[in-house]
Amino acid sequence: MKEVIKLTNIIDAHVHLRTIADKRMPLCTPHTAKFVSGMLPMPNTNPHIYTSEDARKYRQEIELVLKHFELLGTVDIFPTIYLTPQTNVNDLVAGYLAGDVFSCKQYPRGATTNSAEGVSGIKEMFPIYQVMEKYGIPLHVHCEMPMDVDVDIFDSEKFAIQEMLIPILDNFPNLKVSMEHITTKKAAELVSSGRYPNLVATVTPQHLLYDRNKMLRGGLDSNLYCMPILKRKEHMEAIRNAVKNDERGVFLCGTDSAPHFKTDKNECGCAGVYSAPVFVEAYVKAFMEMNVLEKLQAFMSDNFCKFYGYTVPEAMQKTVVVEQVEPWKVPDVYDGIVPLFHGEELNLKARLQ
Ligand SMILES: [Zn+2]
Repeated sequence: MKEVIKLTNIIDAHVHLRTIADKRMPLCTPHTAKFVSGMLPMPNTNPHIYTSEDARKYRQEIELVLKHFELLGTVDIFPTIYLTPQTNVNDLVAGYLAGDVFSCKQYPRGATTNSAEGVSGIKEMFPIYQVMEKYGIPLHVHCEMPMDVDVDIFDSEKFAIQEMLIPILDNFPNLKVSMEHITTKKAAELVSSGRYPNLVATVTPQHLLYDRNKMLRGGLDSNLYCMPILKRKEHMEAIRNAVKNDERGVFLCGTDSAPHFKTDKNECGCAGVYSAPVFVEAYVKAFMEMNVLEKLQAFMSDNFCKFYGYTVPEAMQKTVVVEQVEPWKVPDVYDGIVPLFHGEELNLKARLQ
């Protein structure tokens, strides 16, 4: 076994853990939690996390699961709430100041799983952004057009950058904004350009590793179907290029790991890639292919800490060792959920030091 890299204090800045009433939460949470020092669980659960009280309760649910797996106290949780035009700013600010809320997530109406209450026009959101900017509350944006707008889904991110993201950035220059799971050249170039100093982006393993051929060629692989959808190769290459040459520390680990049972994937092709069981290996593989393993520590942790002004508490500090091993076959399913790399051989394996 040969050590490939050591990573400290990994933070997954975008992960779907579901809720305690949902069997998937105990099945998927430990995969992420054992290797990370912090995780930012998305609020499009069923029901959604709308208020600071919801956020507080959701944190307790996650903690209950962590306790069950003896992981309580080893992972920090960054609770985020689902932003809508109805978000009560007084509640938001109070929750933020009390530490119950870390940030807000904005979904375009209808564009992804459980987003029917998302935002359709951003002008109506301006008073809320103003308060967030004033108090330093970060905003995570799912940057795609609402479903009721007639746009090709392969172009949705590109249009939303122009119509939604840029107006936010221009009007609220001090608002901390994270563009989630970027998939296009336009996004990669905008984030790396430095034109907006308070803009960062999360990048999923699948958008670093694959273009849309991987999902569509030789039969549709619905396990790689996610929103925003995998794009042409030139977009994947632009994202790789931007991550590779990131000197400003603006690209962050955010797996967007989203568990759907195999049966649901078969029936409706729900959007989401389940990367949690192999996410560390997946990023290492991508950075090895890009020949920039030395950039991985910053991507997996340091960039997050720098952007959000966060220090990992001592009890949550972890070192993950990734080794080159004899090829092992990634299971076809974990607990009824098909993972990234299902059935493929990997010669990398992560373990806690
Ligand atoms: Zn997501």
